[in-house]
Amino acid sequence: MFDINDIRSQFPILDRSVYNRPLVYLDNAATSQTPRRVVDAIEKSYFETKANVHRGVFSVSQEATELMEATRTRVQKYIGAESRDEIVFTRGTTEAINLVAASYGGTFFKDGDEVILTVMEHHANIVPWQLLQNRVKIVLRPVSINEKGELDIDEYKSFFNEKTRFVAVCHTSNVLGTINPVKELIEIAHGHNVPVLVDGAQAIPHTRIDVKDLDADFYTFSSHKMYGPTGVGVLYGKLKHLSAMPPYQGGGEMIDQVSFEKTTYAEPPLKFEAGTPDFVDIAAFSLALDFLDEVGVENIAAHEKELTEYATKRMIAEIPGIRLFGTAEKKCGVISFLLGHAHHYDTGMLLDKLGIAVRTGHHCAQPLMRYLGIEGTVRASFAVYNTIEEVDTFINALKRVNAMLNG
Ligand code: PMP
Repeated sequence: MFDINDIRSQFPILDRSVYNRPLVYLDNAATSQTPRRVVDAIEKSYFETKANVHRGVFSVSQEATELMEATRTRVQKYIGAESRDEIVFTRGTTEAINLVAASYGGTFFKDGDEVILTVMEHHANIVPWQLLQNRVKIVLRPVSINEKGELDIDEYKSFFNEKTRFVAVCHTSNVLGTINPVKELIEIAHGHNVPVLVDGAQAIPHTRIDVKDLDADFYTFSSHKMYGPTGVGVLYGKLKHLSAMPPYQGGGEMIDQVSFEKTTYAEPPLKFEAGTPDFVDIAAFSLALDFLDEVGVENIAAHEKELTEYATKRMIAEIPGIRLFGTAEKKCGVISFLLGHAHHYDTGMLLDKLGIAVRTGHHCAQPLMRYLGIEGTVRASFAVYNTIEEVDTFINALKRVNAMLNG
């Protein structure tokens, strides 16, 4: 499919060691590593084209603006949006969802309205709606999951009533790896005239997204999970929604005319981009999309699937007492587990001593942890540059750690 050594050579961090062992980086769901071309683009921006965007008449400022705006068009094409005006740059998925909750929810929801979400949501898709509850008394209705971690579609359908105002659902769970049937969920919601926000943070690094085909009203994601720079995220929103929504923050860039008596606002997307944007990182994000296109997200997904299936099979066969969380038919390269009743933190610390980086804890999904009756898990998550040999190292380390904690 692709030359894994060539891929790995593009990520200098993969050459480092931890406790004198080669780093095995398995925390890609939290953030993925960044290829050299992206970092080169950042350096080039700082050394050659750093000037504030959108307002300079001078050449360097215009070049910086062009680089940033070219990325907007690049993102539009990448997700199949109708117009580049539907692409709002944010700090990340979190800010994108906060923007929609505050601006859309704050304007169009009324007391008693219901918002459907799921028990597997990340805090980024729970807390913004709870903050909104300080302004509007909305009711949150989380849909349950089955023992494999798959959404209960019948329950989802049964939640719709005349009070249902909005659906906010993750495309892929960061804990369970479950890939939700978002196209079907959107179709059902639209059948009730209810708009849908999809939190795509965990889906887009390994899924071809076409927002028009999905018919999503809003789709959110973060560059840093897509081999891109930190500090950049995207809110895709249908233009009819973005045009009807009030600004989220006020300041420079987002205005039309300002006076002390009355201020008018710019059109979307600039209406939602108050202040100096992270134009250097936005420009470099383009290079991460080039990387994804070059390798092919389908190939990335297939590679991660192979690693996940291989690792899962070996874990079940070779680690006595292993408890897996999230065994959906359709899942991405995330494995959440516990070694018997050993604390997730102890497992993570010992794995680190063996050079293996995994995430431990509640993964910003405390309601899901409560639902599962646990405090946290250990989570290994794969990316394009991980290898079968790394999975072997991980499994061997896991055997040692299991013997220490449960032997
Ligand atoms: N939603 C999901 C499903 C996530 O996994 C994450 C990141 N862990 C977020 C939202 C938040 O993304 P960010 O921290 O980049 O804003």
